[in-house]
Amino acid sequence: ERQKYIRNFSIVAHIDHGKSTLADRLIEETGTLTRREMEEQVLDSMELERERGITIKSKAVRLVYKSEDGKEYILNLIDTPGHVDFNYEVSRSLAACEGAILVVDATQGIQAQTLANCYLAVDHNLEVVPVINKADLPSARPEEVKEEIEDVIGIEAHDAPVVSAKTGLNIKDVLEAIVEKVPAPSGDEEAPLKALVFDSYYDSYKGVVSFIRIKNGTIKQGTKMKFMSTGKEYEVTEVGIFAPNFYPVEELKAGDVGYFTASIKNVRDARVGDTVTESKRPTEEALPGYRPAIPMVYSGIYPVDGAKYDELKEALEKLQINDAALLFEPETSIALGFGFRCGFLGLLHMEIIQERIEREFDLDIITTAPSVIYKVHKTDGTNMDITNPTNLPDPSEIRYMEEPIVKVSIITPSDFVGSIMELCQERRGNFINMEYIETTRVVLHYQLPLNEIIYDFFDVLKSRTKGYASLDYELDGYKETELVKLDILLNGDVVDALSMIVPKERAYNRGRNTAEKLKEIIPRQMFEIPIQAAVGSKIIARETVKALRKDVLAKCYGGDISRKRKLLEKQKKGKKRMRQVGSVEVPQEAFMSILKVD
Ligand code: GDP
Ligand code: MG
Repeated sequence: ERQKYIRNFSIVAHIDHGKSTLADRLIEETGTLTRREMEEQVLDSMELERERGITIKSKAVRLVYKSEDGKEYILNLIDTPGHVDFNYEVSRSLAACEGAILVVDATQGIQAQTLANCYLAVDHNLEVVPVINKADLPSARPEEVKEEIEDVIGIEAHDAPVVSAKTGLNIKDVLEAIVEKVPAPSGDEEAPLKALVFDSYYDSYKGVVSFIRIKNGTIKQGTKMKFMSTGKEYEVTEVGIFAPNFYPVEELKAGDVGYFTASIKNVRDARVGDTVTESKRPTEEALPGYRPAIPMVYSGIYPVDGAKYDELKEALEKLQINDAALLFEPETSIALGFGFRCGFLGLLHMEIIQERIEREFDLDIITTAPSVIYKVHKTDGTNMDITNPTNLPDPSEIRYMEEPIVKVSIITPSDFVGSIMELCQERRGNFINMEYIETTRVVLHYQLPLNEIIYDFFDVLKSRTKGYASLDYELDGYKETELVKLDILLNGDVVDALSMIVPKERAYNRGRNTAEKLKEIIPRQMFEIPIQAAVGSKIIARETVKALRKDVLAKCYGGDISRKRKLLEKQKKGKKRMRQVGSVEVPQEAFMSILKVD
């Protein structure tokens, strides 16, 4: 029977363990694309993805493989993004599969996201097929890593393929393992249509292209279908497979992975995770687990040139067509003028959007420090969510506030446990427990306020552990905290875009550090600039940027040429990102730097 020769699988891994490279090798090995047709890492097609070497949106490709048993198999490879910000998309991609290849770097062993992604796969009842990668490296220790997989994850790994995705060593073993170990799909072709949308994107010719896994039934051109979460109905205009480009076919049946189009204008109507069924003969129950993506991090985005407001709006609208998780609404700042408050899944998502605005739309933007969502319970009995510190009501109106908490797991060589615990302590962490993975490596579990990790936690962690620690986190609810709004005044005026919400006991230190930091960043100008930090009407710190003296500049011009050039370069760079705030010129850095102090 048809489905017996289908295998639907994903590849999951910790970042940089070689997921995308392995996907390329599988595509090449099966002759789906010849080496000449194939660009490096075909699945990471977005320019930004290539540069950063990460997979942002998941994609799919259909491989045809003639197995050693002489039969021809259809292997649908569904790529997943590897970063925590996109966990929901990973989860949806996995729900479209029966198996997952777990790639582990033979030089590094299990890392935080190896575990996180593997547990996601296990939660979806997938068969997990371990593959040990980077066997070509001299420091590879495949046998130890196999043991680690068996001990920590508890899955059989002694016969796991040991490969090099880079050189192509033993790639056939991976294909054989997929055929052998991943179960074939077993949907009912006669039942009412039930299909999972695991990705979707906007194509200017076809409209929204929805990537689907058919669980039951059949879909073809002319099928009148319905999205179960929204009830929106459409008529299918095309169905097809990924070969790896869109390749129209007559129909898709239970067990298949492919796409359909239906003249849908916005990806919001074809949300990832939704279930598609027939209008006339709907399936009884939607597939489990659909939830809209929830932004966790917010920041303001403003055009450097106020006249470009409409262009910025257009850019955000265009990005949103392809990114249902991006939220934005207009906001105004006294300091920065007209802009947008934007919601992101996490910091990486935020950085990606910012970069795309600058790169693809050629706009210079100023972004304000990221903020989490604070829940404010007011004395009048109402509640509000605050995503912009400026909007925090007067303390007299606040009964209490809550901030989001995350559960963090950190995998590290045991040598660094002390300094990581110190870091988590500094960040208001709550120790949960510690488990040994091997004799020399541990997993630390902490609860931390999201606010404490959204900015530089990852960087500090990396630097304190020489790059050896890895991190994963997930939202774990809200917790009551005493928080206050810290204002920054330049030349006597509150700069709203620099306001932040901080724990009360931190306000004094934060205020002082921020003032010191700003003093370094704000260039001297023709007049003296007082920098003050305040909570309410109480000034808690003060610094002064002295007025510029003409002879300071003159001295520089006498200096050696390279120093002069550096100075000019710095000025040029700075210029682009300067913002006139009242009477003071403030560089872009200032708006981000306030979170960097600790
Ligand atoms: P991903 O983040 O899991 O998708 O990882 P990538 O496929 O982007 O690979 C991360 C880095 O590891 C890249 O620089 C690859 O060239 C490199 N890499 C991947 N597989 C191998 C391998 O088998 N051997 C070696 N030496 N390097 C590899
Ligand atoms: Mg990748």
